[in-house]
Amino acid sequence: MSIADNLRKIRRELPEHVELVAVSKTKSNQEIMEAYEAGQRVFGENKIQEMTEKWETLPRDIEWHMIGHVQRNKVKYMAPFVSLVHGVDSLKLLKEIDKQGRKHNRVIPCLLQIHIAREETKFGLDEQELQDLLASEEFRKCRWVKVRGLMGMATFTDDEEVVRREFHLLKNMFDTLKNLLPDVGILSMGMSGDYHIAVEEGSTMVRIGSSIFGER
Ligand SMILES: *Cc1c(COP(=O)(O)O)cnc(C)c1O
Repeated sequence: MSIADNLRKIRRELPEHVELVAVSKTKSNQEIMEAYEAGQRVFGENKIQEMTEKWETLPRDIEWHMIGHVQRNKVKYMAPFVSLVHGVDSLKLLKEIDKQGRKHNRVIPCLLQIHIAREETKFGLDEQELQDLLASEEFRKCRWVKVRGLMGMATFTDDEEVVRREFHLLKNMFDTLKNLLPDVGILSMGMSGDYHIAVEEGSTMVRIGSSIFGER
């Protein structure tokens, strides 16, 4: 099946209110243009340099999402154009994004990444760290970032119940946050292997790579 066929199939499966981020990391401009010509406008990358190079050469109406772990010293490169930063996992990083947003005179939309998986290797805040961040004076002073919601990755396992439980936990945290902050409406959860479960558990944004572009 072609990239356009894959996209059509996935869009048909997703409810109207769920946004599809096409994860194009390691994929060529030509492959991205195939998806673009099939109507896709939102793409996700996990390396700032690669995303910036693609932003420079590809059509300007593409929305670029940074879905990977963010190094603070590279925030400045994406600050002029990034549409959504999914992986914000510390106050320090949020403050750097705020600083770069101010420099470029734009408010940068962000998601806070929550650690829900069993694997230690995955990044993110736990529930207490989230509460501490939100309660801090420094967070309230950040005028150039807008927290739009939460992002999380489930454990990589065939055990559906584990995945479902983790997504469910994240959804609960999201609902709590929604009552606290006015601009919160995005729950980014679900990848090629688990997006059906994520959508059932309340995801509003899925990040799908290999089911669209093939294996990396
Ligand atoms: C690579 C990646 C994805 C997409 O993974 P697929 O399994 O190819 O769909 C989603 N989210 C993050 C954070 C990623 O790094």
